[in-house]
Amino acid sequence: MKLNWVVAALLSFAVAGCVSKSPTGRSQVLTFTNAQMSQMGAESFAQIKKQQKISNDKAKTAYVNCIADRITDVLGTQQPWEVVLFESEQVNAFALPGGYIGVYTGLLEVAENQHQLATVMGHEVAHVLAQHGNEQVSRAQLTGIGMQVADAALGASGVDNKDLYMAGLGLGAQVGIMLPFGRAQESEADVMGLELMAKAGFDPKESIALWQNMAKAGGAQGPELLSTHPSHGTRIEDLQAMQQQVMPLYAQAQKQSLASCNIARNN
Ligand SMILES: [Zn+2]
Repeated sequence: MKLNWVVAALLSFAVAGCVSKSPTGRSQVLTFTNAQMSQMGAESFAQIKKQQKISNDKAKTAYVNCIADRITDVLGTQQPWEVVLFESEQVNAFALPGGYIGVYTGLLEVAENQHQLATVMGHEVAHVLAQHGNEQVSRAQLTGIGMQVADAALGASGVDNKDLYMAGLGLGAQVGIMLPFGRAQESEADVMGLELMAKAGFDPKESIALWQNMAKAGGAQGPELLSTHPSHGTRIEDLQAMQQQVMPLYAQAQKQSLASCNIARNN
């Protein structure tokens, strides 16, 4: 009993040191450093590249890279992002701390054009920018669900529990564990992602069509993406309400000479 109290006191002391604000002003508890998160991102990406088939379709790969480049160019960081297109029917995509983007060919059937694919990539990159993976893994650590999560993340106990922190990074569907982002994180990624796509010169109106297509797609279980990125009831209304706000960003971007991202469709 006493020991528990001491542990709780130590824990709250530790937590007090790592409460910060997200880009839209939410309080976040982050217990991992950027370097630790980047390491988790790098290790998770390497593992997924081993497990999943990488697409050898040059046209589709160039198309996905073109959109990713325009989105990540907006961030103005020097460090390049690694982008991989996986050959899979999964309707899914993810982005990881450290600068990694994975897209599944199945998503190209649901995201019908460059603007819709940019919606998903902007949303995924926004989760990374807002440190949602750190928030998830921190919460798992602090609530004791996964003390192994911390061990694995800190390199203390090898690779056995990697799945747990991969799930914390929003990779639930990839690793067979469900640990969806929360509603506040989803809303934040929608807001930030919409701004990102507009600044990159993609039509923000298409974000609405994308989430409508996503809701219709994927049969009984629905698209894999929605298992880790649950749709909240007001998503479409929120995106509609934001259109006016991001239109000037889109108009501004269209004055630049941006690479044209298109794919020749056979069907
Ligand atoms: Zn999401």
